Amino acid sequence: MYINSIRGVRDLLPEDVKKLRYIERICREIVEKYGFKEIILPTIENSVLYQHSVGETSDIVTKQMFEIVNKDEKDKKNIVLRPEGTAGIVRAFVEHNLKDKYPLKRFYYFGSMFRYERPQKGRFREFYQFGIEIFNEFSISSDLLLINIINEIFQNLKIEIILEINTIGCLECRKDFVNILKEKIKDFNIQLCNLCDERLKKNPLRIFDCKTDFPKLKEKLDDFNIQNYLCEKCKFNFQQILFGLSEQKINYIINPMLVRGLDYYNGFVFEYKTKLLDAAQNTLCAGGRYDSLITKFLSKDIPACGAALGIDRIMEVLEILEKEESFKVGISVVNETFLIKAFEILKMLSLKNKNIIFLGPFSKKSLKSQMRLLNNENCKYVLVVGEEVKDNNIVLKNFMNNTQQVVNLNKIEEYLKI
Ligand code: ATP
Ligand code: MG
Repeated sequence: MYINSIRGVRDLLPEDVKKLRYIERICREIVEKYGFKEIILPTIENSVLYQHSVGETSDIVTKQMFEIVNKDEKDKKNIVLRPEGTAGIVRAFVEHNLKDKYPLKRFYYFGSMFRYERPQKGRFREFYQFGIEIFNEFSISSDLLLINIINEIFQNLKIEIILEINTIGCLECRKDFVNILKEKIKDFNIQLCNLCDERLKKNPLRIFDCKTDFPKLKEKLDDFNIQNYLCEKCKFNFQQILFGLSEQKINYIINPMLVRGLDYYNGFVFEYKTKLLDAAQNTLCAGGRYDSLITKFLSKDIPACGAALGIDRIMEVLEILEKEESFKVGISVVNETFLIKAFEILKMLSLKNKNIIFLGPFSKKSLKSQMRLLNNENCKYVLVVGEEVKDNNIVLKNFMNNTQQVVNLNKIEEYLKI
């Protein structure tokens, strides 16, 4: 019987895992330096969580959520696989009253997310995100901190990125320019997809995020720039961010058409792009402010901002990692009568030498084929357990210079050196 994995998900083989863990480690080490604490979120949540946060007109809620069908008719709840992490962190923050527990409210998460999308390079139905969230810190210090941290991550990973930024205003000034945008788009008389027809009524800015309609509108909307419609407060805030970035010599491009795919954003938004992937999948990290999201769940104003790094796409553009030379030692037996003794030696050595990888012992393999396997695995040394073990000795083979000698087991560690 031959069974494939399902469409849009994939196995991460050892080489992929190595890359993923490397990226995860760099992210983790950097954010922890800035006082972020990890929260491990459940993989399943109530669907209503995303309707209230990510938004009813978002791609995620309208068409990308995987629903879990509960076979128990009496316990039917709308449960979904998590499509993103921010909503879960906000839920956990409110549920566990984290605002009183942590003076500094900086959290991070890592894990797989699930979205029903058309699978292609850099776009999967199960993918990994590393996300950071800062609660209760106002713009602009927290915005600049996010950018500094993400720049440090990409610098460490040696990935060249282009930082695109924009502001989408506050709830007040957005009302005005959204109406102007609505009228403009109506005037173009262009046939929009069903979803964008709906968006035009409910949330026209969202159309900027449509992979089919937006390219048709882009040129026509050339003279539409959110920045011309911002209120004084939003204008000043954005200017201060630009000043902060320039003073720190951080390169950026203002992309006036950049909005984010989720409803909860306001003010400063940004994306990190790469030239190495196709335009439809070239965003490696995205984020911004969402000052009103927590208020929706907790009737208390808690400003917030955050970002999510798309680990799968970062894996695509990460240079091949240098092969790290692990120190491997083989344990072989002359024949199976020495197997148990070989296990004893393995346990004794393994306990004391945490940095050495021990391979063996093997049964039903000739000494010659054990040697071939251990050589192919790049072992530096091989212990051969045979008759000599009665006198507490083994034969130690050095694969680096092709020599061998009889060594007393009590002194073996003195010899296991490169
Ligand atoms: P896109 O416009 O590419 O669909 P998005 O706006 O839906 O992205 P976010 O929800 O902001 O993306 O997620 C942050 C990052 O997670 C993205 O920039 C991307 O790197 C990654 N990401 C999102 N969806 C997928 C996916 N289906 N497969 C792989 N990575 C993804
Ligand atoms: Mg998307």
